[in-house]
Amino acid sequence: MNTFAFLEKAARQRPDAPALVQGDEVVSYREFHDRALAVGGNLLALGLGAGDRVAFCLANSPRIMEVIYGCFAAGLIVVPVNARLHAREIAYIVGNSGARVLIHGAEYQDGIIENETLFEGVTRFCTEPAAGANPLDDLYDPARALTAGVEAKPEDLCWLFYTSGTTGKPKGAMWNHRMVRCVIMNYLADLHNIQPGEMVLHCAPMSHGSGIIALPTVARGAVNAIMDSASFDVDALLATVERLKVSHIAFMAPTQIVKMLEEYVPGRHDISSLKAICYGGAPIYVDQLRKAVETFGSIFVQLYGQGESPITITGMSARLHQELLDAGDARIGSAGQIRTDVEAHCVDADDNPLPPGEVGEVVARGDVVMPGYWANPEATAEALRGGWLHTGDVGYFDERGFLFLLDRAKDMVISGGNNVYPREVEEVIILHPRVANCVVFGIPDEYWGEAVHAVVVPKPGETLTAREIIDFCGEYMAGYKKPKAVDFVAELPVSGYGKILRREVRDRYWEGHASRIGGGAGAKVVQG
Ligand code: AMP
Repeated sequence: MNTFAFLEKAARQRPDAPALVQGDEVVSYREFHDRALAVGGNLLALGLGAGDRVAFCLANSPRIMEVIYGCFAAGLIVVPVNARLHAREIAYIVGNSGARVLIHGAEYQDGIIENETLFEGVTRFCTEPAAGANPLDDLYDPARALTAGVEAKPEDLCWLFYTSGTTGKPKGAMWNHRMVRCVIMNYLADLHNIQPGEMVLHCAPMSHGSGIIALPTVARGAVNAIMDSASFDVDALLATVERLKVSHIAFMAPTQIVKMLEEYVPGRHDISSLKAICYGGAPIYVDQLRKAVETFGSIFVQLYGQGESPITITGMSARLHQELLDAGDARIGSAGQIRTDVEAHCVDADDNPLPPGEVGEVVARGDVVMPGYWANPEATAEALRGGWLHTGDVGYFDERGFLFLLDRAKDMVISGGNNVYPREVEEVIILHPRVANCVVFGIPDEYWGEAVHAVVVPKPGETLTAREIIDFCGEYMAGYKKPKAVDFVAELPVSGYGKILRREVRDRYWEGHASRIGGGAGAKVVQG
């Protein structure tokens, strides 16, 4: 089954209902369907054939959905590129995927021209007239439109999801039609059962989680409403919720939820239509989650997954959030339970399954797991060894199957031979009434190998001392986990997908050290 069939069905059942909305623009399901067939037909008319890659780098807009479904219709593989990347990073993904076409916004034109040689041989389409690029409108010529989606087998690839590359060059996780269908069904079954006509709002990049949740929205004939602005503006978001009577915010990064909490003015907008906000992609600290539920109600739905196993491995429904909070149950700090059709557990360093409560790497298996990375057999073999996806996330399952994520394996701090998970320390620091945000990591230390270090953002107008933070931690945790030192900053760097860039902060402390992994006294290596 070709994933395009979901759009065909929605267009037949609800032809005049709105499918895509942004500002004053409303695209009906019939128009969306016809426009996607036009994009697909025009791409094939360029000489592309089944399995060829088409990259896009576009700010959130209905065009993204038309391109994605156009590629599905034509049997092409769509390659969404994070719209915040530098032209050279875009070029890397285009080159690595072998994309023959790049569809991009006018805002990238200068960067592309400056790095023109990197885009040689790539046919470009731009949202506005631009040198060396065809007008995007050319892809909508009805004369070359397909009459229907092409046949596709479940294992045919349809999407390359490039990982954010925090541990080296981005890798393209391959998705096929079966996976995407599972993603759609799983989302509806386990996380939020979107209903026909429901208003689903996107305020996070649609090349990532938000765009994936646009797929079950289409499958149900609901509306994908897209925020106008590329930047995240809480007041504009809540005004849109009020104006469109939004019932579901497709996806928010935890940093967006925290910003929403900080800037929320009760009563300014009627947001009573809001029934679900899906979040994930990074940890949210329990204290922030509790405040969010107190402020906005039990509307939060957590997902835990990764590009290699999209939406998702585990999840926590809105109802479960409320039950756990009401019961004062510490499981509210977990990433929820394994979803219906996924297998997952933790393994030790030799890939042996671990019993509940023991810490190891999370592995997962099922139809939502990728068949591998694009053109990267070594990374594929490593990630999928033994038939299980090795997530690189460290955590444990409790006896009721709730997953507690501690950290990325590579973020663990080894201090004096003890393992310290930065998230544990961050969860405590964030409880301090004068702390707005924080990040914890290991820094090189002559004696400890690595020392736990905290970088803290005080709340506006507040000042704190390192001693106060360290003593505060001492009330909650073993001495070896307490930060040895604390620095204060006004804000923390955040990725295009809203994740706090712990490694970027940490790297400044590791300059001049060859190794990023401590190993006890004497581990410090000075580059010559
Ligand atoms: P990406 O492939 O960019 O979606 O990043 C996936 C990674 O984000 C996962 O491997 C986790 O490290 C992290 N992540 C995703 N969801 C959660 C969650 N609910 N809680 C904590 N970390 C998460």
